[in-house]
This record gives sequence, structure tokens and C-alpha cells, in this order.
Amino acid sequence: MTEEFKFELLENGLDFILSGLNYVSRQDSKSDLKYGILHICSGIELIIKERLKREHWSLIFHNIENANEELLISCEFKSVDLRNCLQRLKNICNISINENDEKHLIDFRNKRNKLEHFGINDSWEGILSSSARVVSIILDFISNELEPEYFDPIEEEHFKELREKISYFDELVELRMDSLKEDLESAEKDGLFTTECPICYQDTLILGDSQTSCLFCNYKAEPEDAARLWISTHMKINEYMIVKDGGDYPLYLCPECDNNTLVDSEKYICFACGNHWDISTLDNCLDCNRLYILRDDEPPFCYDCIEYKSTKD
Ligand SMILES: [Zn+2]
Ligand SMILES: [Zn+2]
Ligand SMILES: [Zn+2]
Repeated sequence: MTEEFKFELLENGLDFILSGLNYVSRQDSKSDLKYGILHICSGIELIIKERLKREHWSLIFHNIENANEELLISCEFKSVDLRNCLQRLKNICNISINENDEKHLIDFRNKRNKLEHFGINDSWEGILSSSARVVSIILDFISNELEPEYFDPIEEEHFKELREKISYFDELVELRMDSLKEDLESAEKDGLFTTECPICYQDTLILGDSQTSCLFCNYKAEPEDAARLWISTHMKINEYMIVKDGGDYPLYLCPECDNNTLVDSEKYICFACGNHWDISTLDNCLDCNRLYILRDDEPPFCYDCIEYKSTKD
């Protein structure tokens, strides 16, 4: 690409993220948090687009077949969205972002879309932690993929400032985590289960109480609602899409507490009673298809079906 087409995705991206972090750290108002998320999201996308642009400028067009230099110069085109950006990074630039990181980037982007329509419900702690996570991912991406040693002085200055800012965020997150140590330990002693919170991405979501709650960001929800949110962020599964495609939504009745709160992830986790089982230790009842706990020498049915059979005999 010739010099005249050089537009400042990178500088803009770094600037947006810095501005976003400044909004978040001010924590004065809901509107600060909103602009924090909006700016961080815009910055992340610009930075990923910078990498695509270095591969070939047409890759930042939503429809590559419509790409032409005139549109590029006038900036009058629909640009590629985050999901497709990540896809192109993988398929065309051969850059794989680890699955967990990708999940957090997409979830953060979804937060942004939600807040555009419904405003914002996350606490400051939740936004502090989730933005620290996604910005750290993007800082690594910059170091690995965008050759910061060749940055111009402005980009260099922004990048330095960004790293300073994020280490301050990391400190705040760490301080808060330290302050939660005792609570986490006592939750564990009480037999409660802890998993990753869909709001702040910390492993501080406590399952097994009447309400599901996060110690870090104070997110609270009914167990089934929390399970559904967890499935959509942690497993990138959208119930509507799954049902439309005829798939199975991974939420079932728990064999222990009978609530519709058992999530099928790498293991079975119940968001209501906090019990969890390895995949191989539950099976579907041959009669009613409900999950039951496998026990040696017992017939392949759930308790209800066994009981029903015995009353019939
Ligand atoms: Zn949380
Ligand atoms: Zn349960
Ligand atoms: Zn059954």
C-alpha cells in the first residue's frame, strides 16, 4: 500500500483504549462506565484491523468483494466486525488467539452491544476487571503481532501510557482479590462451588447458595438466570441459535436438587445446589431421558422412574 493510504488505525486504536480506561478509572457515573466500554471496544477493533490491514487492506472491508481503493480513501465502507476480524486473523493471517481470550473479547463486545440498547448494569468492579482482562489480551497481541519496536513516537508514547495504566488496573484487581481471600476460603469450607463470573471474568462466582453471587463484582442472580448467562459467555452458546439449528441447549434438570440449573460444560455443574459431576458419572434415564447419578449395580433409570416402577409392581 502506498503512503497516501496510510490511515491511523493503530494510533487511533491506542488512543481509544486509553480514553476508555480513563473513563473507567474515573468511576464517577454510569455514563463514565458506558463510554469506558464503548471506547475500549472501538480501540480493540481498530488494533485488530491494523493487523489485518498489514496483511492486505481489503481485509478490513466487511465484503471483501466490494473493496476498492477509492472507498478505502474516502472511508465510505462497512468495515469487518469483530467476529469476522478474529476469523480472518485465524484463517488468513495464521494468527490464533487462544480460545479463552477470544471468548472474553467477544463477550466484551456483546456487553457493548447490550449497553447501547439497555444501558449498563455491571458494577464498577465488574467493568474494571473485565476491561483489565481484554486490554491485557490486546497488549499481548500488539507486542506479538504489531512490532512495537517500529512504532512512531506518538504510537510509542500511547503504548507506554497504556501499559502503565493497565498495570494500575491489574493492581486494583489484585488488591480486591486479596481482600476476598478469606471469603473464598470460607465458601470452599462450606462446600460451595466457585466458577468464572460471566460479568467480571474472575473465578469468584459462588454456586450453591439460594442466589448465585459474585464476590468480586457483586453480580447476583437467580441460579437459572446465572446459568444461562454463564452458558452464553463461557460457552459462547446462544439459546435462540441452538434451538433454531435443532441443537441441544446444555441446561438440564439437576439429579440432586431438581432445578433446571445443571450446565453441561467440561463437567456437569449445578448452579442451584453447587454440586458437580464428571461427565462420565451421570447418564440419561432409559425411560424418561432425565440425567441421573450412575451407581454400581443399579438399573439404568432415574429415581423417579425406579420408584414408579416399584409402585406398579
Ligand atoms: Zn463477577
Ligand atoms: Zn442441583
Ligand atoms: Zn427416568
